[in-house]
Amino acid sequence: MLNIVLFGPPGAGKGTQSAKLAERYGLVHLSTGDIFRQHIREKTPLGLEAKGYTDKGDLVPDELTIRLLESEVKRYPTARGFIFDGFPRTSAQAIALDACLAGMGSSISCMVALEAHDDELRRRIVRRAESSGRPDDARPEVVQNRIAVYHRDTAPVADFYRAAGKYKGVDGIGEVEEIFKRLCTVIDQVKTV
Ligand code: ADP
Repeated sequence: MLNIVLFGPPGAGKGTQSAKLAERYGLVHLSTGDIFRQHIREKTPLGLEAKGYTDKGDLVPDELTIRLLESEVKRYPTARGFIFDGFPRTSAQAIALDACLAGMGSSISCMVALEAHDDELRRRIVRRAESSGRPDDARPEVVQNRIAVYHRDTAPVADFYRAAGKYKGVDGIGEVEEIFKRLCTVIDQVKTV
């Protein structure tokens, strides 16, 4: 299997690039943000619970998020691999993901991290808010909280993969196609080792 964590702060372009990578490499794209938004739209019990957190830009609690991710992974027993977008966002989630994949006799192949500075992230999210319809994109204080939560709770997750020799940083500034090429270059190297 080829299992990739596409990592990066809010607005780094994880969703756009994950969709393209999933197509190129024949992977299942799992975005916890997209899954939460779908539950919120459908007003499921999970959606109602998650909304209280996503609206503020806080993380949904690990227990709920990990359970959701595990059940999503189980829906694709014959997958060639996964691209995890927006997960793991805490150390506990990283540990749970490892255990989940180990249970399938597999593991994370690499973490590719899109790097962009905070001013650029804020600019992109403001632009995205015009079309995304996402309430968490529309309010500057929520955007600011998401970036702060990323630095506090999520950025340390990179160390987990760095220690395992699986971290690859990629410049996230530029045109979509240009960044896609950079990501593919990194992933093609991973596949051949
Ligand atoms: P972005 O990367 O632009 O912040 P996402 O779509 O990945 O957007 O996530 C939107 C929201 O969904 C997050 O702010 C958070 O509330 C929730 N969420 C998504 N993934 C996770 C996760 N792995 N753990 C906890 N909360 C999450």
